[in-house]
Amino acid sequence: MKAHHGMYIGGEWRPAAGVDTIEVVNPVDEQVIGRVPAGTAADVGHAVRAARAALPGWAATPPTERAAKLAALRDVLVARKDEIAETVTAELGSPLPFSQAVHAGVPILVAGSYAELAATYAFEEKVGNSTVYHEPVGVVGAITPWNYPLHQIVAKVAPALAAGCTVVLKPAEDTPLTAQLFAEAVAEADLPAGVFNLVTGLGPVAGQALAEHPDVDLVSFTGSTAVGRRIGATAGAAVKRVALELGGKSANVILPSADLAKAVNVGVANVMSNSGQTCSAWTRMLVHTSQYEEAVGLAAAAATKYGDRIGPVVSAKQRSRVRSYIEKGIAEGARLVVGGPESPREQGYFISPTVFADVTPDMTIAQEEIFGPVLSIIRYEDEEEAVRIANGTVYGLAGAVWAAEEAEAVAFARRLDTGQVDINGGRFNPLAPFGGYKQSGVGRELGSHGLTEYLQTKSLQF
Ligand code: NAP
Ligand code: MG
Repeated sequence: MKAHHGMYIGGEWRPAAGVDTIEVVNPVDEQVIGRVPAGTAADVGHAVRAARAALPGWAATPPTERAAKLAALRDVLVARKDEIAETVTAELGSPLPFSQAVHAGVPILVAGSYAELAATYAFEEKVGNSTVYHEPVGVVGAITPWNYPLHQIVAKVAPALAAGCTVVLKPAEDTPLTAQLFAEAVAEADLPAGVFNLVTGLGPVAGQALAEHPDVDLVSFTGSTAVGRRIGATAGAAVKRVALELGGKSANVILPSADLAKAVNVGVANVMSNSGQTCSAWTRMLVHTSQYEEAVGLAAAAATKYGDRIGPVVSAKQRSRVRSYIEKGIAEGARLVVGGPESPREQGYFISPTVFADVTPDMTIAQEEIFGPVLSIIRYEDEEEAVRIANGTVYGLAGAVWAAEEAEAVAFARRLDTGQVDINGGRFNPLAPFGGYKQSGVGRELGSHGLTEYLQTKSLQF
């Protein structure tokens, strides 16, 4: 993948308004692998105009034709899946097999699901003496992070296009090459000019200009709670739709009847995959006091085995963030079982898989999102306490419950204040709504729930 020097606006690569660029760094060897333009408010303005101009035509395109275009886009992603995986590995640092299976594989599934939904969704319904039309919200400003660079783009762009909206995307500064590759795919799939536009740039410049642009009808943001709060406030002041997918501090609750070894091993893998940079990761493991030391031993062994298979975190900034959380864990009295703040390699932004035991629910490492390969194991005495601890953060994005009987796990899961729960290691479902309770966000992505975020209703009475 060769970096483009321009912005993808109105169906073509156009020179940026300014001259500043962003260096893209490979987190494995710290080498600069490309440069992309750092967009400004002027670029955002051009892109929003292009999206606005394309809106009436795309909104009026029959859903089955929009579906066919999305299927063509999915097919291009399939044809270029190796290049996608290599690009994500180059700028995010994740091991290639993970990039192939997840970073390339999941967006293909999601794009395919929206090709299908666009063709089958009831965009018109009868309610008594009314006909209700589900119409596109309009021009969407999408702002995405770097941790699942293509998935987070597709999880916004595919439903927006399926709904008949047009989009301006501002991807993360750390992973712009994947976003440029996506723009190439849009061009190759022959989507009409202006339905998708890309402005690379910095969050406080291009991102903020997009979130504040008066001609954007809906802002969909994934990233940190701090930035999400500001974007929500800006959107609220402008009476504009907003979707926020923010952080998490999810609990992996192992009930005493569960298969302990399986629950611990799957739990450790869940935290360590993508180097812990997953908003829905189960970063708190809750274990009954009677099984606590056994679980700690199993987790330590599993994390050690992970040791040399784990990729780096995305940037030097993230590495120092994660390290300071590990140091804080030690300072607040948690027991470091494996890993630690020291660099395991001389080059690259690597952090060793790290496991803390004797973590109490009020410690910083049990409350704040670390976004690195760090697991906290917390002890509970009874089920009531487990519920209290699991629900005892500002977040509520995901979680897991393990028990011998499914019904026992389901009963527990129903008491959790969280948007997704995996029962006994349940599989990822690209059609299930994904999103947060409490400060983990507003709105839902994926499947038909993700589609309705981009629709508004108009009722005609007869
Ligand atoms: P971030 O700053 O919230 O980045 C997310 C996106 O928002 C990026 O495209 C970013 O651009 C953009 N942005 C930044 N400031 C903005 C502003 N003022 N207005 C509009 N857009 C803005 O997150 P981060 O700095 O990459 O990561 C920090 C922490 O956030 C992580 O440690 C983690 O805890 C959390 N995080 C959560 C998720 C998630 O999936 N929920 C994803 C990533 C990070 P730039 O790329 O230029 O900053
Ligand atoms: Mg940032």
